[in-house]
Amino acid sequence: MPAPPRILITNDDGFSSQGISALLEALDDLGELWMVAPDSEQSAVSHALTLDRPLRVRRVGERKFAVNGTPTDCVTLGISNLLGDRPPDLVVSGINRGGNMGVDVHYSGTVSAAFEGVILGYPAIAVSQVVGEGMTWEASAALAHELAAWVLVHGLPESTLLNANVPLGPPRGRKLTRLGVRRYTEGVVEQRDPRGRRIYWIGGGEPVWEAIPGTDFHEVGRGFISVTPLHLDMTDHDFLHDLESVVPSFLVHPDGGDRPS
Ligand code: MN
Repeated sequence: MPAPPRILITNDDGFSSQGISALLEALDDLGELWMVAPDSEQSAVSHALTLDRPLRVRRVGERKFAVNGTPTDCVTLGISNLLGDRPPDLVVSGINRGGNMGVDVHYSGTVSAAFEGVILGYPAIAVSQVVGEGMTWEASAALAHELAAWVLVHGLPESTLLNANVPLGPPRGRKLTRLGVRRYTEGVVEQRDPRGRRIYWIGGGEPVWEAIPGTDFHEVGRGFISVTPLHLDMTDHDFLHDLESVVPSFLVHPDGGDRPS
């Protein structure tokens, strides 16, 4: 009998969060689960890697570890050390408390952890649940199970991950989407502290997104589950092509030695 698939589970909300518990429960029948997750909240740390101090790992259960580092640290450490000589067949990050859509994927520790899996050569999924009144983990856990089962069978293209977002309330259905565009209203709130000095809070204000059909924000806003394939290569291939045809002045060497052919 072949060994059951190995699934590395991580997140950015911390190992004791409800979302990762829901994920562990949801994927339990799909294979051998390994949890390597931050020991504290690491939301919005993006793809940070800890380079200025040693990392410590605490075993918190069977095949479960808490790391005093970032989500990217967890994936790196999990694959290079903790899982031993057999790498994961899949990396799943989440279930994040809060959506990760549009440009927010650049800030997201959840999505970055999945990208770390992709960088190291393994298929990966990120799952996030929109937060609000009446939130449950039911729909996002069911989705995580179905996505993971599908990817274990079909795999994913190299350098690609699936980023899934689940709306509040019972989903109206599921949509394949592209990244949407969000507008920050009061991005930074300025106030005074009790001693009269200026203080700043980032992340204030209500999120507003542009109503572009087919985008993650828009479809989740309408009550649909959104699944967006994301690619690691951020090259703007269209603009690269344009630049190649016009040969911009910055490509011409100032000493005149190099001329475009
Ligand atoms: Mn988070």
